[in-house]
This record gives sequence, structure tokens and C-alpha cells, in this order.
Amino acid sequence: MSTLVITDLHADVITEEGDKPILNGVNLTINPGEIHAIMGPNGSGKSTMAYAIAGHPKYKITSGSVKLDGVELTDLTVDERARAGLFLAMQYPVEVPGVSVANFLRTAKTALAGQAPKVRHWVKDVESALGRMQLDKTFAGRSVNEGFSGGEKKRHEIAQLELLNPKAAILDETDSGLDIDALKVVSEGVNRYAGQGDRAVVLITHYTRILRYIEPTVVHVFVDGKVVETGGRELADKLEAEGYESYVRANAAAG
Ligand code: ADP
Ligand code: MG
Ligand code: MG
Repeated sequence: MSTLVITDLHADVITEEGDKPILNGVNLTINPGEIHAIMGPNGSGKSTMAYAIAGHPKYKITSGSVKLDGVELTDLTVDERARAGLFLAMQYPVEVPGVSVANFLRTAKTALAGQAPKVRHWVKDVESALGRMQLDKTFAGRSVNEGFSGGEKKRHEIAQLELLNPKAAILDETDSGLDIDALKVVSEGVNRYAGQGDRAVVLITHYTRILRYIEPTVVHVFVDGKVVETGGRELADKLEAEGYESYVRANAAAG
């Protein structure tokens, strides 16, 4: 059972001009089996939230708490957070030249499990995970994200998600840049993962399109570094029709 609890989270992005506050008190509780969609305009801090939770060195948590199954993640290193069961699919996955997809996945699995997976099973597992994402076998031999198309990067992230099978996953704009076929394949992967029933999923997006394929438990509107509204999927439909503007205005008026 995986519960992710984010309490009054404040975080800065570290820039050359100094630290800039971005998160202004995020509160979220994702219970086992739940998918929380986070929707908000560009620049509202969605990726900052994802990176801060994952422990990216460019972001600094200044107060608040993030607990996964009762374990305080903010005290841990990036690696320790991953070992505690947290997974982040990045909006812009990084290239790792010279490291093949197969080796990368194996290293990650070994680090998380504490022991190397048996080679024979692992090769099959990787091939079938790639196959489910409609990625060719030869993909396993390519350098991670190097020369991958936008869609391949996202499919690879979800193959990783399924292979590593973490307790909790934050998926940052996993839908961006996908054509309709890739969107379906990626959504099916997320649904298989979430469908285990005991995982916690945070699905960051600013389009409702992916929510046609992935049924969110709840939808949150994210503006100016915090959640300003929470509702059911009808909230996503409202956002599709009306945009974020009324929330942005109300937030600005509230100071
Ligand atoms: P979103 O994911 O909702 O589009 P981001 O978290 O990417 O929002 O960005 C939130 C704010 O933080 C933006 O104003 C952005 O310019 C700023 N920001 C994020 N990362 C950096 C960075 N590395 N350097 C400077 N500013 C940053
Ligand atoms: Mg953005
Ligand atoms: Mg973003």
C-alpha cells in the first residue's frame, strides 16, 4: 500500500541570480490506487513540484513535508528517495550518452532491488516492457534518450515505470508531444501500473486529452505554486472549456 502525503510544501528554484520561491504551500494526499491529475498553466510550478519531491539539486525545499508510506523523503538523497519507492518521469528526459537502455534499466533495477535481476528473466522482461510500449527490441541497445524522438522518450519512461514498478510515480507531462497512437500506448502503460490498485500516481498535464484514456480519481488546479481547486473529472472538462484564466485572476486578486 502506497500513500504519498505532501504537506505545506514550499520550494525555491536555485538560479544564478539567487533562490526564487516557486512552491507556495502544496497540500496533496494520494491514497493507494489513486490517480491525481495536476493541471495548471505554464510556469505555475508543476515541474518544480516534481523535481523538488524527487530531490533535484536545482530545487530547494524550504519547508513542508513529503511522506511516502510514512517515510520523510525531504531528508533523503535522490537515490534514497528512489529506493524508498518514488519514481519521476521527467517532462524533458535527459540524455545519457554511452549508456544503453538495457544497462540503464538493469542498473536502476539493481539499485532499487538491492540485487541484480537474473539476466535471462531480465532480458525477457525488458523486451516485453519495450514491446508493450511498441518499441523495437533494438531499442535496448541504444543510448538512453540520445536521438530519441519526443514520443520514444515518453514510451521509454513508461517502460521504465513498468519495469521498476515503484510505490509512487510522478508523471510530468508524459502526454506532451505524443501523437494519438503513442498517447494510447502510454496511457495503457500508466493504467496497467495504476491498476495494480496499491500505487500512488501524480499525473501532471496541462491538456485534458490524456484524461480521455486515464481516469483520474481527482483533478487539482495548480496556480502560482499551489493547489487552488480540487474536483472530479468534471473539473477537467470545465478547464477544457474555460481555461485557467478565472483561477489565475482569483489567485492574483487574493494576493
Ligand atoms: P510548469 O511546469 O508549471 O510549467 P515550472 O516548474 O517549470 O512550471 O516553472 C515554474 C517557474 O519557475 C517558472 O517561472 C520558471 O521560469 C521558473 N524556473 C523553473 N526552473 C528554473 C530554472 N532552472 N531557472 C530559473 N527559473 C526556473
Ligand atoms: Mg511548462
Ligand atoms: Mg513543467
